[in-house]
Amino acid sequence: MAGHEHVRVAVIGSGFGGLGAAVRLRRAGITDFAVLERRDSVGGTWRDNSYPGCACDVPSHLYSFSFAPNPDWPRNFSGQEHIRAYLEKVADTFGLRPHIRFDSEVLSARWDTEALHWEIETARGALTADMLVSATGPLSDPKIPDIPGLDGFTGKVFHSAQWDHDYDLRGKRVAMIGTGASAIQIVPSIQPLVDRLTLFQRTPPWVMPRMDREITRAERWLHAKVPPTRALRRQMLWLIREFQVGAFTKHPAQLGLVEKLARHHMTKVVKDPVLRAKLTPDYRIGCKRILLSNTYYPALVKPNVDVVASGLKEVRGNTLVAADGTGTEVDAVIFGTGFHVTDMPVAQRITGAQGITLAEAWKDGMEALRGSTATGFPNFMTVIGPNTGLGNSSMILMIEAQLNYMVDYLRQLETLTAGSAGRAALDARPEAVRSWTDHVQRRMTRTVWNTGGCDSWYLDANGRNTTVWPGTTGEFRKVTRNVDLAEYEVLRAPARSGQRKAEATR
Ligand SMILES: Cc1cc2nc3c(=O)[nH]c(=O)nc-3n(C[C@H](O)[C@H](O)[C@H](O)COP(=O)(O)OP(=O)(O)OC[C@H]3O[C@@H](n4cnc5c(N)ncnc54)[C@H](O)[C@@H]3O)c2cc1C
Repeated sequence: MAGHEHVRVAVIGSGFGGLGAAVRLRRAGITDFAVLERRDSVGGTWRDNSYPGCACDVPSHLYSFSFAPNPDWPRNFSGQEHIRAYLEKVADTFGLRPHIRFDSEVLSARWDTEALHWEIETARGALTADMLVSATGPLSDPKIPDIPGLDGFTGKVFHSAQWDHDYDLRGKRVAMIGTGASAIQIVPSIQPLVDRLTLFQRTPPWVMPRMDREITRAERWLHAKVPPTRALRRQMLWLIREFQVGAFTKHPAQLGLVEKLARHHMTKVVKDPVLRAKLTPDYRIGCKRILLSNTYYPALVKPNVDVVASGLKEVRGNTLVAADGTGTEVDAVIFGTGFHVTDMPVAQRITGAQGITLAEAWKDGMEALRGSTATGFPNFMTVIGPNTGLGNSSMILMIEAQLNYMVDYLRQLETLTAGSAGRAALDARPEAVRSWTDHVQRRMTRTVWNTGGCDSWYLDANGRNTTVWPGTTGEFRKVTRNVDLAEYEVLRAPARSGQRKAEATR
């Protein structure tokens, strides 16, 4: 790739992860970096998910960057448009725009074992980088299940993350497929508009009340004028969630009480015993993400809503056939069926030192040292990598912890290349990755996600939980504070790269 532009760091994606990385790089004095974004604006998840009712399930004062507090959050749980506007503002306030390249989908990235850098092809040209940071997000590539006959459906079909705002749902017969976090926000938003709404449910979710309210003008004024009040609010929100973790990870039986509250939340609205039976989960609360809504059950009891509790099996013409054999003719199908989480598409595009892709390296399941780095992929890290997801708190805390790790990684590389030492790269040692993965999986055995009796998107094709972090966010922050060089092999290249093979110093 002679003659191409070279940057010190290339970051893929401009959601919370990519923008956060950009801020942290600038703060570390690194300005030689590019943020490569496939779309034409920032925001990631919060740009793409514009479906009616889209909102966060974590209070905004916690679901925001610690270094970019916002005293003006309008509600406890902000809606998509406010979070998107916040991210646009972060891009402006921190001077990130000059670094961001829109419409620059990363098509491939290949590690050059001699030059010790990444060769990156994007939709708008090629570049090379010393370090590659993937912040493509765990929930950014929509997944539509392979339903026999769907091709022959002549009505409207779209995914919750690709909402068609030009399609008028008023008076239509609509099928909603799935009952996850997005679906339960969509159902109450569209129920008053449509003629009939048929909800295809495979597994009922546990739903808890949503403690949402407007943040008053007085509170906002106080947060702006007396910043410690804002910090205190964030700290309280964080602490409450840290204390909850033990019930999820070590003592799932304690969640029985929460289950009672959720059951009461449902039964006080749903009086019909047949519908109640359909909506009552048969697994421990917390095994799947606990959903928050005050409007989901009230929408389900409306006369224009049907719940089909056996899941969608096939499509015959414009009739959706459930696993129990019942058929429903509809005009539109909305898939709220989630994302490619354990098989992230970008992994197929990243080729490491052994000439295999990250997807091939992860064919038996994703694994990465401290959720970040993988053997054979030097100077590469994934933000929100394997086992960094959360069931009950803000992902921004995990992202920021990983960005500490990224900054320390770059600092270590700088030290290694100082003076006449020549170029260097760090490759996670296989034994360090194994030991980390074993440690995480050992801790996973007692968690509600593994023992709660459900089949969730946290589990990969082999039934292994490669998604969730089995600890507190404080613990994760601690284990990602510094890069331990003992866990890495230092790869060296001659000062004039490209002349002979990189040598590994052990
Ligand atoms: C509807 C919804 C609600 C959510 N609610 C919560 C919540 O309540 N609490 C919580 O903690 N988390 C929530 N999440 C999870 C959320 O995904 C994370 O909190 C966070 O926003 C992830 O940020 P990210 O930057 O890692 O990924 P994303 O926001 O997904 O951004 C990834 C970016 O990478 C870009 N990209 C992907 N592939 C390429 C490529 N090949 N080349 C170039 N660019 C690429 C995408 O276009 C996108 O802009 C929610 C997610 C969704 C979908």
